[in-house]
Amino acid sequence: MSQEQQAVARARKAFETGRSKCLEHRIRQLQNLQLLFTERQTEIADAIKKDLNKSEQGTQLYETLGLEGEISLAIRKLKEWAAPRSVEKNLLTLSDTIYIKPEPLGVVLIIGAWNYPWAVTIQPLIGAIAAGNAAVVKPSEVCVHTAKVMERLLPLYIDKELYPVVTGGVPETQELLRQRFDHIFYTGNSTVGKIIMEAAAKNLTPVTLELGGKSPCYIDKNCDISLACRRITWGKYTNCGQTCIAPDYILCEPSIQDRVIAEVKKSIKEFYTDNPKTCPDYGRIINQRHFKRIMEMVTDSTIAAGGENDESDCYIAPTVLRDVKPEAKVMQDEIFGPLLPILSVSGLEDAIKFINKREKPLALYVFSTDKKVIDKMRDETSSGGFLANDCLVHFSLSSLPFGGVGNSGMGCYHGKFSFDQLSHLRSCLVKQLKMEGPNSMRYPPHTAKKLGW
Ligand code: NAD
Repeated sequence: MSQEQQAVARARKAFETGRSKCLEHRIRQLQNLQLLFTERQTEIADAIKKDLNKSEQGTQLYETLGLEGEISLAIRKLKEWAAPRSVEKNLLTLSDTIYIKPEPLGVVLIIGAWNYPWAVTIQPLIGAIAAGNAAVVKPSEVCVHTAKVMERLLPLYIDKELYPVVTGGVPETQELLRQRFDHIFYTGNSTVGKIIMEAAAKNLTPVTLELGGKSPCYIDKNCDISLACRRITWGKYTNCGQTCIAPDYILCEPSIQDRVIAEVKKSIKEFYTDNPKTCPDYGRIINQRHFKRIMEMVTDSTIAAGGENDESDCYIAPTVLRDVKPEAKVMQDEIFGPLLPILSVSGLEDAIKFINKREKPLALYVFSTDKKVIDKMRDETSSGGFLANDCLVHFSLSSLPFGGVGNSGMGCYHGKFSFDQLSHLRSCLVKQLKMEGPNSMRYPPHTAKKLGW
């Protein structure tokens, strides 16, 4: 048996003992996970620093604080989430007991991405544990140091039979995909998303696909452009642009382009100084393959700010591209790097048309002081999430389902949505063995006389 087969078999065997279903066991596991984040903050931050040059504060802000919040919420609400949910009855079932009982799915495979390696791998795990499943955890091999730390730390804190960690690259992930799971939760790019779905189809395994895409950002000329650009600059260059919901490109009228460029430049300086390369809050591209991919995107566009780079350090300065054409290289795929293209549109209608001609994005941003503009953009487009006058922050709300639509993914999670996503919502109806009278109509023979028609 391969190590992947062994891990899945161990998780399945542990699931069959029934211990993951016990609410006390689930809560204990979540508390232990909580402890991991309080006791091992330094090890976690050191590894992410090596992988992505994130500062310790950055790691806390964008990775662990959110996870700790999700764990506390799950611990606090678990009894309520797992309890039978009563539903409305109809005339024929008035005296019956009817409810929805969430039950675990079984063994879940969690495949994580590298850009926020703890957030995107552990957040689904919180849902899997809370819902009473076993889970095989596969961190991304691209964040080399973090994958090792995760592999070492998780078994020290949580049940290593129920929640084994499997490391490795594409061959190991593909070997995992040949095994049978009860759910696959994948975070990563859409191309691999299709491979995951194909593999899952062989066993009719349901999937959650947390994918990416190009998230547009429309700036209305009548908004507070300075404030809008400050928030967009933050959303774009955090983690060096390697954020699934980063605003990918700006759409605005040509009359405000110069102002937008000037304001973004001002904010870049405010956040990352005149020399972002030496700024502790400015990250690095994950590896040279991605560095080359991003630099290739710049070759047919005009640089309005930034553009400096250093391949040996995987450094690309916060960069703004002006007068970008829809055919430009930077507009063909998700950028996932610190390039901010600005494209001209003639107004709101034109921006909506532009967005609707492309795949449904993971996030859609609009900046405007006019409620009518915001509502029109929301009502005439579709995206995983919709934000007016800010970027990224919807990810941090446990009360909102987080996920894509169309090419940006399927299924959703965070808070109770994670619990429901990784549960089977079982319909239960318990009838009494009496009151047979009203049932007689359904039994043949279906004569008109009996039915009263
Ligand atoms: P990645 O390269 O780390 O791949 C993700 C996972 O897929 C890894 O665990 C890897 O082992 C596995 N994998 C890669 N190629 C495979 C193959 N051929 N067969 C089977 N498994 C394979 O990460 P990535 O895809 O570069 O991540 C970036 C993408 O993820 C971006 O598109 C981003 O928008 C998206 N993303 C989405 C979210 C979200 O929540 N929706 C969050 C983070 C990242």
